Amino acid sequence: MTFDYDLFVIGAGSGGTRAARIAAGHGAKVAVAEEFRIGGTCVIRGCVPKKVLVYASRFADAFADAAAFGWTIPQAPVFDWSVLRAAKETEISRLSDIYAANLERSKVEIFRQRAVVAQPQAVTLADGRTVSARHILIAAGGAPSMHPHIEGLEHTITSNEIFDLETFPRRLLVVGGGYIAVEFACLMQRLGSAVTVALRGDNILRGFDDDMRVGLRDQMQAAGVTFRFGALPVGVTLDGETRRVTISNGDTLDFDAVLIATGRHPATQGLGLEAAGVRLSPHGAVKVDGGSTTNVPSIHAVGDVTDRIALTPVAIREGHWLADRLFGGGSREVDYDAVASAVFTTPEIGTVGLTEAAAREKFDVVDIYKTSFRPLKATITGGSERVVMKLVVDGESDRLLGAHILGAEAGEIIQALGVAVKMGAKKADLDATMPVHPTAAEELVTMRERTARYIR
Ligand SMILES: Cc1cc2nc3c(=O)[nH]c(=O)nc-3n(C[C@H](O)[C@H](O)[C@H](O)COP(=O)(O)OP(=O)(O)OC[C@H]3O[C@@H](n4cnc5c(N)ncnc54)[C@H](O)[C@@H]3O)c2cc1C
Repeated sequence: MTFDYDLFVIGAGSGGTRAARIAAGHGAKVAVAEEFRIGGTCVIRGCVPKKVLVYASRFADAFADAAAFGWTIPQAPVFDWSVLRAAKETEISRLSDIYAANLERSKVEIFRQRAVVAQPQAVTLADGRTVSARHILIAAGGAPSMHPHIEGLEHTITSNEIFDLETFPRRLLVVGGGYIAVEFACLMQRLGSAVTVALRGDNILRGFDDDMRVGLRDQMQAAGVTFRFGALPVGVTLDGETRRVTISNGDTLDFDAVLIATGRHPATQGLGLEAAGVRLSPHGAVKVDGGSTTNVPSIHAVGDVTDRIALTPVAIREGHWLADRLFGGGSREVDYDAVASAVFTTPEIGTVGLTEAAAREKFDVVDIYKTSFRPLKATITGGSERVVMKLVVDGESDRLLGAHILGAEAGEIIQALGVAVKMGAKKADLDATMPVHPTAAEELVTMRERTARYIR
């Protein structure tokens, strides 16, 4: 049987573009459909524009700290949102163009329109054409989940819209306590918003190590963010440009923007998957095996649409190895153990491996090494920030199970430490490593005294 394509990819984001290029490199005839902008969430309205905003926000700290180091800033610094927005747009357009050029150079055909699955080996495009493909890859990503119990949701925004707001919100309500919520809370507050965070739980960042959660919450509070724990908005009404928000405890608060950041869900609605016989999880994620193939052998899925670990490098790795397997004779399966990641708050969190709580559930003897200190810079500025570092160690084998850092450049530091954790390093290996001085990271190899030992 002949097909129009060997591989048809739905979604030109992190996972889809990587799979398309690698498959084409193996000699496959490949097409990709994208209904929004080439590059996907990460490039257009996720990691990259967010990091641009994070960089912008940290100038606030630099200006505030400058005087302690002898600098006089002649006038109060003024921030212009429209300049930052334009700079962000230039960068994401540049990256999107590079993604498109790379696909074209790899001889991947691009359809700039929506595509849905018509049959296990056929795809229908928005313009009405149906094309056949030996393999179909679902790489449609995820979308922000809107909270169904809030009346007046139309007066709120999600992370999709915040990057392109016409007017900078002087008062911002962030709803949610996950990493996207706290990242925006930190950066918007430094750019000049009065930020309130409302969340259902009693602390931010569920699933992260408790010392990181508490440390970050305290430092966000110290930086001026207001928290409303155990409180969610129930209604939003418009009064001119003001969003009047009723909170579950009955309070009414006014904001210029309300950012709903209560999580994301796989973007599988209307993709034709059920009709093609593809099994989905109860909340709509495409179910796949270790090689990213669904129960329908010709249909595969990678990235956020599968709800494994929703991070860009994971989607890229899944796409790459799927293409290797389908067209290059590869057989590798992605290893989801000890995936390092960062939360780009100020201060940042870098994390890899097990939290203390998870380790204590799994291992009989868990040793904790913990330090909390004022970074050198803060001793000059008089700032109250503290760096927190924590190592979670298997007390029986001495193996490093997890590492957690709260502090400047924690994302950069954890990348290197992630290699050690992945290689199965022991605490003794860290002890044997010569510190780099003067750095904050040197504390990771100089923690001699055990803070706690937990025996199950
Ligand atoms: C605000 C924010 C910040 C983030 N920060 C980070 C971070 O710091 N680090 C990190 O690792 N990850 C981060 N992420 C997560 C990261 O962006 C995702 O994990 C990653 O983009 C997933 O890649 P993907 O290929 O699965 O999907 P996506 O990159 O979302 O790509 C899917 C693409 O498919 C397209 N599409 C969907 N349906 C169709 C259809 N039917 N036809 C045609 N096209 C379709 C979409 O338009 C989209 O372009 C962040 C996400 C958000 C929202």
